[in-house]
Amino acid sequence: YADMSMYLAKSKGRNNFQFYSSELNEALLRTLEIENELKKAIKNDDFTLYYQPKVNLKTREIVGMEALLRWNNSRLGFVSPAEFIPIAEETGQIVAIGEWVLKTACKQMKEWQRAGFTSLRMSVNVSVFQFQHSDFIMTVKTALEENELDAKYLEVEITESIMQNIVDSMRILNELKSIGVKTSIDDFGTGYSSLSVLKRLPIDAIKIDKSFVDDVADKKDKSLVNAIIDIGVNLNLEVVVEGIEYEDQVSHLSINNCILGQGYLFSKPVPASDFEKIFMNN
Ligand code: C2E
Ligand code: MG
Ligand code: MG
Ligand code: MG
Repeated sequence: YADMSMYLAKSKGRNNFQFYSSELNEALLRTLEIENELKKAIKNDDFTLYYQPKVNLKTREIVGMEALLRWNNSRLGFVSPAEFIPIAEETGQIVAIGEWVLKTACKQMKEWQRAGFTSLRMSVNVSVFQFQHSDFIMTVKTALEENELDAKYLEVEITESIMQNIVDSMRILNELKSIGVKTSIDDFGTGYSSLSVLKRLPIDAIKIDKSFVDDVADKKDKSLVNAIIDIGVNLNLEVVVEGIEYEDQVSHLSINNCILGQGYLFSKPVPASDFEKIFMNN
C-alpha cells in the first residue's frame, strides 16, 4: 500500500508528494481497519437493525418499514453504512452481513405479526453483489421458512446498478417474483437507468431518490419529481418518495391515495421498540 500511494502521489507531481502519500495512507488504513473489524462484527453482536416507517402520503398511515443496518464497533465507534457497506461489498463480506440482515428482519417482522401488527411490509436493502451471488435466492427462502413468514410481507430494495447485468438480474427478479417476494428499485433516478428497461423489469415499486425532493419548491424540480411519480403510476408500480424532511415538500407532490413516502418528517430510522411506539400512535 505504501508503494501504491507513493506511485499515485508521484503521478500527481513531486510537490504534492507528502500530502498525497499521507492522505492515501490514512484512507487505506481506515479501510483496512473497517475490513478487519467487520470480520468479527456478526460474532461480536455488533450489528442492529433500525426501522424507518413508510407512510401513505395521503392518509399518513404506516404501511411498512425499511430495515437499516447499524454498526457499533468497540474500537471504531459508530460507523455509517454509507462507509462500511461499500467496503463489505468490495471484500465480499456483504454476503454474510446481508444474510444476517435478511434473517433478523424476517424474525422481527414475524414477531410483530404475532403481536398483531399485520399487513405491514418489511423492506430490506440488498446490494448488487449479494443480489447476484449464487446463494441469494436460497438465503431469502431460508430466512422466510425459518421464521414462517409469508413471502408477500418481504420486499427487497436494490439499486439501478443491477441493470448493468440485465440477463442475470431479470432471472433473479423473476425467481423472487415466483416466491412471492416484492422488489423495489432504490434511489431511483440517480443511476444508470433506461426507461425502456424499467418497463420490462418484473419489479413492484420504485423509490424516488431524496435528491429529487430536496428543492421541490423549485419549478423544474417539481415538474421532474411529479413526472417520475406519473411514470411509476402508469407502469403500475408502487411509488415511494424518499427523504421527505418538511411538510412543505409534500404539498408540491402530486399524490393520490397510493403514493408512499419516507423521511425524517415522519420518522428517522429507530430501534424496534421505538418503531412499535410510533406504530401504536399512528
Ligand atoms: P437507502 O437504502 O437509500 O436508505 C435511505 C438512507 O437515507 C438511510 O441512511 C436513511 O437513514 C436516510 N434517510 C431517510 N430519511 C431521510 C431524510 O429525511 N433525510 C435524510 N438526510 N436522510 C434520510 P442510512 O441508514 O445511513 O443508510 C445509507 C445507505 O446504506 C442506504 O441507503 C443503503 O443503500 C445502505 N444500507 C443501509 N442498510 C443496509 C443493509 O442492511 N444492506 C445493504 N446492502 N445496504 C444497506
Ligand atoms: Mg433503501
Ligand atoms: Mg434510497
Ligand atoms: Mg442508497
